[in-house]
Amino acid sequence: MTRATVVGSGPNGLAAAVALARAGYDVTVLEAADTIGGGTRTAESTLPGFRHDVCSAVHPAAITSSFFRAFGLDERIGWIVPDASYAQPLDGGRAAVAWRDLTRTASELGPDGRAWLALTRPLARRIDGVLDFTGNQLLRVPRDPVATIRYGLRVLEAGSGLSRRTFRTEEASALLTGVLAHANTPLPSLAAAASGIMLAALAHTDSGWAYPVGGAQAIPDALADDLRAHGGRIETGRHVTDLASIDWGDPAAGDLLLLDTSPRLLLTHPDVPTPYARSIRSYRYGAAAAKVDFALDGPVPWTNPDVARAPTVHLGGTRAEVEASENAVARGTVSERPYVLASQPSVLDPSRAPAGKAVLWAYIHVPHGSPLDPTEHVTRQVERFAPGFRERVLASHAVPASSREAINPAEIGGDILGGAFTMTQAFRRPVVSTAPWRTPMKGVYLASASTPPGPGVNGLAGWHAARTALSDAGEPARLRDLF
Ligand SMILES: Cc1cc2nc3c(=O)[nH]c(=O)nc-3n(C[C@H](O)[C@H](O)[C@H](O)COP(=O)(O)OP(=O)(O)OC[C@H]3O[C@@H](n4cnc5c(N)ncnc54)[C@H](O)[C@@H]3O)c2cc1C
Repeated sequence: MTRATVVGSGPNGLAAAVALARAGYDVTVLEAADTIGGGTRTAESTLPGFRHDVCSAVHPAAITSSFFRAFGLDERIGWIVPDASYAQPLDGGRAAVAWRDLTRTASELGPDGRAWLALTRPLARRIDGVLDFTGNQLLRVPRDPVATIRYGLRVLEAGSGLSRRTFRTEEASALLTGVLAHANTPLPSLAAAASGIMLAALAHTDSGWAYPVGGAQAIPDALADDLRAHGGRIETGRHVTDLASIDWGDPAAGDLLLLDTSPRLLLTHPDVPTPYARSIRSYRYGAAAAKVDFALDGPVPWTNPDVARAPTVHLGGTRAEVEASENAVARGTVSERPYVLASQPSVLDPSRAPAGKAVLWAYIHVPHGSPLDPTEHVTRQVERFAPGFRERVLASHAVPASSREAINPAEIGGDILGGAFTMTQAFRRPVVSTAPWRTPMKGVYLASASTPPGPGVNGLAGWHAARTALSDAGEPARLRDLF
């Protein structure tokens, strides 16, 4: 039986492992950490009974992923699909909310309602076409050219800053900027718009910004169950620092090595060709994230009650403030009033905290490698829109960007996106190729978020890598043949 060794048990590594095990390979996954899941883990990192998502919390990319749809993730885990996809509180008790119901969103945005509809509705209606384009490498003919063109035009509008003139109210401008700021790049920029516009459209679809019941860990657990059912195994506590040091079999006999890791690990392969090594060395890592989890004595006391209904909250105030915060990071500093991405899953999922208590997950963007503890920055921003928050904190657990690599060796300098998310690196991830998952070393493939379609919990980079490997082995694979 031919062997496949996968380094890393993030969603992409496990997606590749499952696909290869189902294709008949004898699969072993080597994971550095003591638990599986990489960026999709849940842990009691503050107090017993408080279940915090270690990394990813909100999963619009997972519930709509073509890989996870074929895998049948829906039948294996429970989903919570909130009515309010995300909210952005503003000073004075005001807030803008992206309800899944687009008509309600537009009506609450008043004079900007029509512009919000024009921005999001054509994409929400053709979301499968948008996802087909964004869920693959970009150097290919899209299946739905109409959706792709509509998406591209909106990315150009938001990315060039033209959309600043589209909205008249602070509410609508802030609502859009909060979602554009996910990309951790300067604002406005095409890269920020590329991910933000897709997320904005997903917010108004039936699957919305979904949460797995019990936390992100449900996703790798479902993949690992399927892997084991097909004969695969996972070894934790196996940090691979040198590819020459592991026995992954014989590439000439068809054995495979797939890396759900930083591309840098490829440099330790004894046969890496110089031009490829040069490309990998020049691949850039970007700004980072500093995260803090809170165990709370009750829900966050938001001034605006609608914010309490949205599991995902963007804090940072107006468009100008959020842009200033993101552009400060690009200049190597952190704003005193930073943009905060917050998630309060216990508003809809009682399994996340003891009765009457709550969890809050939050991170801010910081310069690459920053040692900043974000607890005070986050606390001040939450207090601004939820006075009394500080008194509800029972415990907190912070992870500065400078500590992230020790937790996950793929997060270089605390970059949680697998490499800077720029327009150049959307096409060059980590090399320019129609099949960037393939490396020049026989049998070796890169399967992480450092390959297309990039960051986000969708398992697609792992699936594309496994499919490329199967096709190179003369076994062209389609999702429907394996699942
Ligand atoms: C704080 C944070 C918040 C996020 N929020 C969201 C969100 O809400 N929604 C969303 O969709 N995405 C989110 N993401 C991004 C998402 O988690 C990642 O894009 C996704 O997990 C990438 O999957 P992956 O399999 O490529 O890599 P990872 O999930 O990073 O997994 C890589 C795995 O490989 C292991 N590994 C790496 N190198 C080695 C090695 N040399 N030897 C052995 N093992 C190794 C790591 O320990 C890890 O388990 C977030 C990420 C972070 C960090």
